[in-house]
Amino acid sequence: MYAKVKLLLIFFFTIFMLPGYGQTLLQNPEQFLGYKPGTRFTRHSDLVRYLEYLSRQAPSRLKLQTYGTTYEGRPLYLAAISAEERINRLEEIRQNNLKRIGLQNGQPTANQPAIIWLSYNVHGNEAVSSEAVLQVLYDLLNPANERTQGWLKNTVVLIDPCVNPDGRERYVQWYNGVANAVPNANPWAREHQEPWPGGRFNHYLFDLNRDLAWQTQQESQQRIALYNQWMPQLHADFHEMSGEATYYFSPAAKPFHEDITPWQREFQQIIGENNRKYFDQNNWLYFTRETYDLFYPSYGDTWPTFNGAIAMTYEQGGSGRAGLAFARADGDTLTLGERIAHHYTASLATIETVAQRKDKVLQEFDKYYQRNRTNPPGPYKTYVLKTRNQEAKIKALTTYLDRQQIKYGFVSGSSAQRAFNYTTGKHESVKIETNDLAISLYQPKATLIKVLFEPFAKLEDSLTYDVTAWAIPYAFGLQAYALPGKINQTQAQPIALNQTITKPAIPQPYAYLARWNSLSDIQLLSALLRHNIKIRYSEKAFQTDDETYAPGTLIITRAGNEALGASFDNIIKSEAEKAGIQITPTPTGFVSTGVDFGSGSVRYLRKPKVAVMAGQGISPPAFGEVWHFFEQQIKYPVTVLDAEYFNRVPLSNFDVLVLPGGSYADILTDKTLSQVRDWVNAGGKLISLESATGFLAGKHGFALTRKKDTDSAEVRKNPYALLKTYGESERQTISDAVQGSVYRVSLDNTHPLAFGYGDTYFALVQDVINFSFMKDGWNVGVLKKDIYTSGFVGVRARKKLQDTLVLGHQTMGRGQVVYMADNPLFRAFWHNSKLLFGNAVFMVGN
Ligand SMILES: [Zn+2]
Repeated sequence: MYAKVKLLLIFFFTIFMLPGYGQTLLQNPEQFLGYKPGTRFTRHSDLVRYLEYLSRQAPSRLKLQTYGTTYEGRPLYLAAISAEERINRLEEIRQNNLKRIGLQNGQPTANQPAIIWLSYNVHGNEAVSSEAVLQVLYDLLNPANERTQGWLKNTVVLIDPCVNPDGRERYVQWYNGVANAVPNANPWAREHQEPWPGGRFNHYLFDLNRDLAWQTQQESQQRIALYNQWMPQLHADFHEMSGEATYYFSPAAKPFHEDITPWQREFQQIIGENNRKYFDQNNWLYFTRETYDLFYPSYGDTWPTFNGAIAMTYEQGGSGRAGLAFARADGDTLTLGERIAHHYTASLATIETVAQRKDKVLQEFDKYYQRNRTNPPGPYKTYVLKTRNQEAKIKALTTYLDRQQIKYGFVSGSSAQRAFNYTTGKHESVKIETNDLAISLYQPKATLIKVLFEPFAKLEDSLTYDVTAWAIPYAFGLQAYALPGKINQTQAQPIALNQTITKPAIPQPYAYLARWNSLSDIQLLSALLRHNIKIRYSEKAFQTDDETYAPGTLIITRAGNEALGASFDNIIKSEAEKAGIQITPTPTGFVSTGVDFGSGSVRYLRKPKVAVMAGQGISPPAFGEVWHFFEQQIKYPVTVLDAEYFNRVPLSNFDVLVLPGGSYADILTDKTLSQVRDWVNAGGKLISLESATGFLAGKHGFALTRKKDTDSAEVRKNPYALLKTYGESERQTISDAVQGSVYRVSLDNTHPLAFGYGDTYFALVQDVINFSFMKDGWNVGVLKKDIYTSGFVGVRARKKLQDTLVLGHQTMGRGQVVYMADNPLFRAFWHNSKLLFGNAVFMVGN
């Protein structure tokens, strides 16, 4: 303890008493903020004040830019720091970098620095990061600091001082409100017990460090847009882990994704060496090559890696648990000051490592992009996606590709090609047609495309930290092929959405028809319901004007909407345009086959009042995904109920109650659950997701049950199955695991829960599902034999998944229960399952 305090004093002495301190007008963080760093948590507004102060004091060495705002309205900043002569030509340096790698046309000028991007506090309650950055900023700008000034001759350092201000403020505000005057290191003190939902997440409780590849959140979208304008050679992401842990720096743990280049692997070692040097000098504990792998492509280290950068995560022991002082199990006290010292040291070591190898770093970066453009990785060189009748999904896809700066085009001419068919999972002859969307791998972002589209990501080791399958065609629910060669395609044009209305204008249509097959259709439905437009949908397929319409098609008749007068047509047209989908006017309610629009099989769609459970016990992201779906994705009103007072809520106020994944034993006690059952019997609709579904299984009145435990049968057959080696315990666990794998689910698409789908759909399954087929209910989605498609699934888990229920529906009295064994809104990136959730909310039980 004393040794550490002494070291810390030396550390602060070094920072503040460097020669030249006092000769400059620049105030260090302590002088500016009025307190010693490490003695309290800095509010985001004060961090912003210091940034703005630095940019006023050192305009020739720092350029500050706001690049966006958070959902709660806080500003997001990027500070560019370099030597004076470089800051003057910052825009030229940025464009040069894009020209070198082919993301911008033109010849780069010579004399390019290396570009380093450091990101702090993506997890809001890993709050040391934005404290450490204050020191980093000051040291980089202090003209008397010869080391940093030397490095800046070779580099431009881009600093995002706080990636997730909403989460950070949630933590800091809470901590400051409960902390003792003298920090209490006892882990049981209130200041170490962060309340639900914690500061890790952003406003909608998304983990921004799982969102880089998918960019579903406002913060990520703005950040990646700016990242793509810079394309740094190095990205470092500063985190914290458990308060009992020490410090982690690269080299990363296995598995490494196979497309990580030898140079990117080598640099993991180089950067580790330089950090090791400083950590050893200070006798600080650390570890490498464990826990933090480089596989799932949506992290702050992997996504930049697949964009050609050298990228790494730094993890300090601490997090929301640690406060200002934390008594560890080993008897030592971990202070915020120590945590700052470690992240500060790693930050400077990172800049130093790149500055010393500037030429090599740039050469390798160029080589990476040269290879991408001329000799892209992997067996497939073109990805083709069918566009016919998929306008809305294609539009969602092209928006996504544009955000990633992935170029695409449209096929001209038909041909038969040998290709991998994502739907059948086989290599076979497929038909490519005019207007199919094609993505050639011969382009700067080739590696990223390959990683995002690969049908099978090769896993060198099965112990990984996250999901193992993510192929874009499955995620977007599009029919797609992977081709080994190049094909003819025209230049990228936005998909021809023709016009919103497909048929020649009918002056006063009898009705408008909207097909039901994507998230955009739910967006349209939601908008029309907000306008109080009465909508029906067909339970059966029908034909009119030589077109066939599948079950679920929305029928918006003039009848019932007379009160709107002429604005009826305008509202429908403008909302369809906003949602980007086609609607068809029809002059009659008479159909050539199927049922007429006045039939009882054409159901009136009620406008449901929706509530969702949040609070202690509920998984914050699982709740956040539902909240984000209603508020941001379909803009439909939702009432959030907290578990704390749920038993006092008169449920008759609501038509639909959504239970996100979580632990319900303390929320739905026998008494409360019986209130919920009464409400369902009286006409309510309960939608349960993942572990909430597991909670309901076997409970009185609920038709869902679990399958018998196959393990005990196995043990009866082979009693030695129970003997495991301690050293192999991790491996035993993984044979029971499903790590975000893609499964083909068989659907009963005559049921409203599966409207808009074919007879199968590709689901991202994250956990072992073990529900039996229901006797008293509809088994709408089931896993049968041989339905595994992509990703890692342990041997025993795969067996358990066979013949299980994934989607079920039960009528209970006058109400409904919809069981979803998995999470259809997971991280908001699996677009293909969002319609299932929309069906559960709007279609089932009308
Ligand atoms: Zn983190």
